[in-house]
Amino acid sequence: MKRGLVLGALLALGALAVVKAQPPDPNAPKVVTVDKVKDNLWVLKGGGGNTAVFATANGVVVVDAKNPGWGTPILNKIKELTPKPVTMLINTHTHGDHVSGNVEFPATVDVVVQENTKANMEKMDIFKQNNNRGMAKRTFKDRMTLGKGADQIDLYYFGPGHTNGDAIVVFPALRTAHIGDLFASKGLPLVDGANGGSVLHYPDTLNKVHAGVKNVDTLINGHSDTTTTWADLKEFADFNQDFLTWAEGALKSGKAPEAAAAEWKVPAKYTGYSSQVSTLFGGVAGRLTRLQEEMKK
Ligand SMILES: [Zn+2]
Repeated sequence: MKRGLVLGALLALGALAVVKAQPPDPNAPKVVTVDKVKDNLWVLKGGGGNTAVFATANGVVVVDAKNPGWGTPILNKIKELTPKPVTMLINTHTHGDHVSGNVEFPATVDVVVQENTKANMEKMDIFKQNNNRGMAKRTFKDRMTLGKGADQIDLYYFGPGHTNGDAIVVFPALRTAHIGDLFASKGLPLVDGANGGSVLHYPDTLNKVHAGVKNVDTLINGHSDTTTTWADLKEFADFNQDFLTWAEGALKSGKAPEAAAAEWKVPAKYTGYSSQVSTLFGGVAGRLTRLQEEMKK
């Protein structure tokens, strides 16, 4: 019980750090920038996680809605791209920098998430404070197909990683997918244990994505500045496997998480990988602590 309280306090600190990293100054201009990925698919950057905008025959599907206050800037930017109405919103996972803007979308918009993500979203204050506006309306467990032909979207869930509800959103006609924070960028991924994330299963989950999803060339990542490739996903899975192998070895040798963490660095073969590790969720030591808990189960 006491341990749970301490963990809760640490997570609260983590949540504060998120806010600190992007101060919610209501007067600061909310600038959304646009990258065109395909003729009817764009990435909207700024204000949290990357947002995908997919124009179908009858409406616009949005993937992820950024930090609090960024829903309206997203909707305004979409009006510059297409006259079609926004009809659907998909969230890749529960984090505040991906779902908070949901509450600013019209109440008629369909909201679709993985079922564990809905349970995680139900714990968030922002939805309670907004009368449940923007809350998930439909869920899937492992797989769901929406629409057909050029408009088809396939949703997949392959197991725990960044959280226990990381959806892969595939646009098959465009050979492109939004992979959210399961592959946020080239660097050590964050693992949110309180929302079911797993250091132990992370590489497996990535390998299942790589083996289980076909005909995708381009990935929209949760936080990277540019898109990545299917080959980058395999490399990222290997990077996470190498991290896990190292971490298991360090813990088995009896090292404490803090001591082991100080020794970790990006293996030289992973060129272009960031050596900056966020302190969210306890940094490298936090990942080792999470792994230690998982290894005891
Ligand atoms: Zn996240």
